[in-house]
Amino acid sequence: MANLSKAKVKIIHQAANLIKESHHVVALTGAGISTPSGIPDFRSPGSGLWTRYSPMEVASLTAFRYDPEHFYEWLHPLALTLFNARPNPAHLALVKLQSAGYLATIITQNIDGLHTRAGAKDVLDVHGTMSTLTCIDCFKQFPAEGILQEYISHCTTPHCRDCGGILKPDVILYEEQLPVKTWIKAEETSRKCDLMIIIGTSLEVMPSAKLPVFALEHGARLIVINRFETYIDVRAEVVIREDVADIIPKIAAEVLSG
Ligand SMILES: [Zn+2]
Repeated sequence: MANLSKAKVKIIHQAANLIKESHHVVALTGAGISTPSGIPDFRSPGSGLWTRYSPMEVASLTAFRYDPEHFYEWLHPLALTLFNARPNPAHLALVKLQSAGYLATIITQNIDGLHTRAGAKDVLDVHGTMSTLTCIDCFKQFPAEGILQEYISHCTTPHCRDCGGILKPDVILYEEQLPVKTWIKAEETSRKCDLMIIIGTSLEVMPSAKLPVFALEHGARLIVINRFETYIDVRAEVVIREDVADIIPKIAAEVLSG
């Protein structure tokens, strides 16, 4: 680490020590961990996806049921971006920590499936995932592979192989409840961890934004790694404002060096 500033070396050391001292570590990730993979934070203004239509007009459950063709047309650029994205060094570093027993669960607000594609286990997709689709008529679930490729190539609306009904990606749209079982697990794991690493999220989307509070209530410590300030920074042991794809591999390397 000869080329790093003293401040950076110190903060990497602090974060690594917290991880080594803890017994049950949970990561909570948001859009910022996927931006180095080329996925824009599609909730943020200026990313292009929300500029043509208001999200409520197309990305709500009512809109989907009323006009699924329009929804799939609107989703196409995002689906193409997600389909071509690959896990980045931050996703891979978390997998290394997890494989070595330093990280238990990853709770993610992202729908891109990149944690799982990087090889992570025990991932809780609290906002759903593009990895599966469900028929709105018979509720049969299908893996996205093949179906999404077909949609991306031809921009056709995917239909159920069994009943011909329309398939909906298992992402949480406006007006939809979070997936109950996944959410309960996320809440439970937040309440029993002794360290939560918050990565790439400004904690502005409820109810995920309150998971760190559950962790604090249990006496857990927090590390925040995010470009922007979050409401929980004042309660964190370590706050890091660095590029996640650069800093997380360095922290993981320090943990794994013994
Ligand atoms: Zn069906």
